Amino acid sequence: MNDSSLGTHVISRLLIDWYKANKRELPWRTEVSAYRTWLSEIILQQTRVEQGLPYFGRFIEAFPTIEDLATAPEDRVLKLWQGLGYYSRARNLHKAAKMVVDTYGGQFPSSYEEIIGLPGVGPYTAAAIASIVFGEEKAVVDGNVIRVISRVFGITEPVDQTATRKQIEALSALLIAGQDPSDFNQGIMEFGALQCTPKQADCSSCPIQNHCWAYANDAVYDIPLKSKKVKRRSRYLHFIVANDGKNFLLEQRGDDDIWRGLYQFPLIETDGDVELAIDEVFSSLKLDGKVLRVNKSSKHVLSHQDLFARFYHVESGALTAEKYLLVSGAELHTFALPRLIDRYLENYDLRTGKKRH
Ligand code: SF4
Repeated sequence: MNDSSLGTHVISRLLIDWYKANKRELPWRTEVSAYRTWLSEIILQQTRVEQGLPYFGRFIEAFPTIEDLATAPEDRVLKLWQGLGYYSRARNLHKAAKMVVDTYGGQFPSSYEEIIGLPGVGPYTAAAIASIVFGEEKAVVDGNVIRVISRVFGITEPVDQTATRKQIEALSALLIAGQDPSDFNQGIMEFGALQCTPKQADCSSCPIQNHCWAYANDAVYDIPLKSKKVKRRSRYLHFIVANDGKNFLLEQRGDDDIWRGLYQFPLIETDGDVELAIDEVFSSLKLDGKVLRVNKSSKHVLSHQDLFARFYHVESGALTAEKYLLVSGAELHTFALPRLIDRYLENYDLRTGKKRH
């Protein structure tokens, strides 16, 4: 272990110098404000920068200020979020905007302790905003930081254990001490994202190679180590795309599962990978008509679940709403849909179920 304050000071300086020479020009860096930094951090949780960039642009365009976001209808926020997944992030984003307007008069709170009180803001995001925007000396600890620190300092215990995590937090606090908090935090995260990457670390051109335990011990790809294996679950979803020549049936998802509050075609879920009997489709939805086509969509991977979906295109007699919404084909695209359904609609004709060319 190399944790003397002299050693950490040298490493911090090298990281900051590297950052100044290599940082990407990103819209939340060229114009810094608490609103923009917060928005970017929420979008980038579990999302790569390249994927998050267009979302950031669309949000800023639709809601130039936090007041604009706070007063927008939730459905509009969810619609703009569509495709990013983890919809609770979008809901919390909206709630936090309202809280900033209602509790702080539209002025984003400026201390870590206040920022962490906002919905959807955990220690990482609060530290990022407090340091980047307000210069507070709070070290961020995300996946990039964990990888860089554990490699450089030779932490070989599993990083998902509390004691190891605390050790990494203590080292990051030591590294940031006395440095520019914004440059240091952004620097170490950017370094992890671009230079010290999980599978293709560029050690040969690395400025801290001489200080790196993993490099010296030929253990770059053995670190960081994780102990827990996430148990995955497979789910088999059958969506009924019923159409009476005018409308489709749509339902809103509940609160207790993935895709909370989003809209979908009526869904039947089975335990195994079986095709539903036609009678079953009709009786469960009280429909009559004929099944034109059954299509499989490709496997859709969520953090802990693998989804396998089939779409049953049904030509039906006049549809009645009952517990569903009646929606025309044109209106369908204005609803916030799970990415799996949205992608399906991009590739298949809504009425016939035939693949587009
Ligand atoms: S030498 Fe390699 S493993 Fe060590 S910090 Fe540099 S890029 Fe990362």
